[in-house]
Amino acid sequence: MSLCTCTILSGAYVCGPIDTSAQSTRDIELAKLPSYSADDLELKVDATGTHFRLWSPEADEAKVYLYDTDRNTPAVDSLTMKRDVKGTWTASVNKPLYGMFYTFRIKHNRKWLKHTPGIWAKAVGTNGERAAIIDIAATDPEGWNTDKGPSLKAINDAVIYEMHHRDFSMHPSSGIVNKGKFIALTEQDTKSMLGDKTGIEHLKELGITHVHILPSYDYNSIDESQLPSNGYNWGYDPYNYNAPEGSYSTNPSDPSARISEMKQMVKSLHDAGIGVIMDVVYNHTANNDDSNFSLTAPDYFYRHKPDGSYSDASGCGNETASERQQMRDFIINSVKYWAKEYHIDGFRFDLMAIHDIETMNQVAAALKEINPDIFIYGEGWTAGDSPLPADQRALKENVAKMPDIAVFSDDLRDAVKGHYSNEADRGFATGKPGLEETVKIGIVASTAHPQVDYSKGANSKFAYAAEPTQIINYVSCHDDLTLTDKLAKSMPDASEQERLRAAKLAQTIVLTSQGTPFIFAGEEVFRDKKGVHNSYKSPDSINAIDWSNKHKYADQFNYYRELIKLRKSHPAFRMTSAADITKHIKFDDVKHDNLVSYSITGNANGDEWKEIKLAFNGSDEPLNIKVSKGDWIIIANDGKINAEGLGKSRGGTITVAPRSALIMAREK
Ligand code: CA
Repeated sequence: MSLCTCTILSGAYVCGPIDTSAQSTRDIELAKLPSYSADDLELKVDATGTHFRLWSPEADEAKVYLYDTDRNTPAVDSLTMKRDVKGTWTASVNKPLYGMFYTFRIKHNRKWLKHTPGIWAKAVGTNGERAAIIDIAATDPEGWNTDKGPSLKAINDAVIYEMHHRDFSMHPSSGIVNKGKFIALTEQDTKSMLGDKTGIEHLKELGITHVHILPSYDYNSIDESQLPSNGYNWGYDPYNYNAPEGSYSTNPSDPSARISEMKQMVKSLHDAGIGVIMDVVYNHTANNDDSNFSLTAPDYFYRHKPDGSYSDASGCGNETASERQQMRDFIINSVKYWAKEYHIDGFRFDLMAIHDIETMNQVAAALKEINPDIFIYGEGWTAGDSPLPADQRALKENVAKMPDIAVFSDDLRDAVKGHYSNEADRGFATGKPGLEETVKIGIVASTAHPQVDYSKGANSKFAYAAEPTQIINYVSCHDDLTLTDKLAKSMPDASEQERLRAAKLAQTIVLTSQGTPFIFAGEEVFRDKKGVHNSYKSPDSINAIDWSNKHKYADQFNYYRELIKLRKSHPAFRMTSAADITKHIKFDDVKHDNLVSYSITGNANGDEWKEIKLAFNGSDEPLNIKVSKGDWIIIANDGKINAEGLGKSRGGTITVAPRSALIMAREK
């Protein structure tokens, strides 16, 4: 079992040389195997009975084993499967076997492999060891037929909030009963001991539009038989891709509970007007030879090195082969299943560049057909080299070839707060000079702009996004130090007050830039992780959000809330084309370290404001900018913000306070 921390390497995208000779002879042979893409794979129950169909083109023999319970009991029956079309094997029983469990076993190269629930188990028992036969329709909560997520005109109308189920509700201060569970997000009117709103009420108060939940499919690392004393894991160790994780359910041994409870969570968020984005990790599996992929069709789902060993672009021991038809179909059919069965509104692809461009475009097309509001984004990098040629990888540099996909901007992230891999490194918002041009790259969402010189970019050297809808802006996520910890490590001598100011400045840049903003849960209450940068299996004492901080840092929370309100009420921050950005964004010619000043002009994107002036001062001294004469409303100044206005100004020379954002607007 490998406990993966792949995404810690985010930013380490690799553009290897195009070298087709790197493909192993085994991979060439595997690509020729027949594929089967109909949706009756593995299990189908209908009026004629229970039907099994396993895709395993190289198996010598295949069997299905049936059980009364989810674990620790012998099989009550076994069925010998018959070879059928396109590499599949079938067996049937002429009655519905609801309530029973099953595993498959194949004989490969004259050897019987271990039992597997297959790769299409939609319901599983404890630890996902056995697949379950249940009536999935019976898991639907009341009102599910009419349930729907929020509608968006474009992805950059979203404000994304990345959260882990345990982080959000485990702390005693959450006031939530079902801590660490899917249904924590169904509890209404929860409060901290200090009277502040928590749980779903907190999300509504903050104003985010979508939660992005860390992996919620069944993963490998938590022993579900040891509830409630089970531990913590981010979940980047996939086991069963098409069933929810058991440790987030109130009863992992009941296959219906995890499904029903996850649906209740989605329904509750949708009822609150909030969409649900799932983090999906199709790029690697937790195990190699013992993964469900390997036990179903050995080698097929993975890429290999020329010597036949697993290639490892994930840094987790293997990488999947999306370019191979049955794997490509698996990814597409799996996200379609989550979108249809669980009403998921968006997908975040982990290490997306391990997948090929064609697969990602087909994923987007398939999802948009189900619901045009579904959006897809991912990490446009890998964690190691891959046999897949660089020009076929879904890299951020290739995003222009993927019109309906967005990628994380490590450009803005590292420029604003300092490099992710060097704790002490500062960024634009914390006084490091020379990153002004990279901040501008972030402001224009990595699109081409006549006033942005990409040759001075710290990370990317060209405008890789065709449109701003292809960029996700952020300064922190579950990976690496939280923003609070990064500020503590890079500004060790600064007062907490100074660090709070820097955090506000950093998020103001994120929330006002073109592209789609993304914040990490708890940043709005100045959440820290005690300096732990890779907390993938750290205890709740490191990861859980302490909601009493909402009281302590009420000013911070109010700033974030108002910032989100500002963005949502002004389309000028949400332009959908690169041409509009070029037309409406004018950078001022300021030549001072840690100062960027610009205007969004001409009632951009239908905004009621004729001009918005934004100036970011990352230095520790006050700096002046020149603003045209007029009737200005001051929106943000010196660490304060009000979307309706803090006061008025006639323009002229205006001072931007140290480590703060100035935002002014005029209607005429
Ligand atoms: Ca699990």
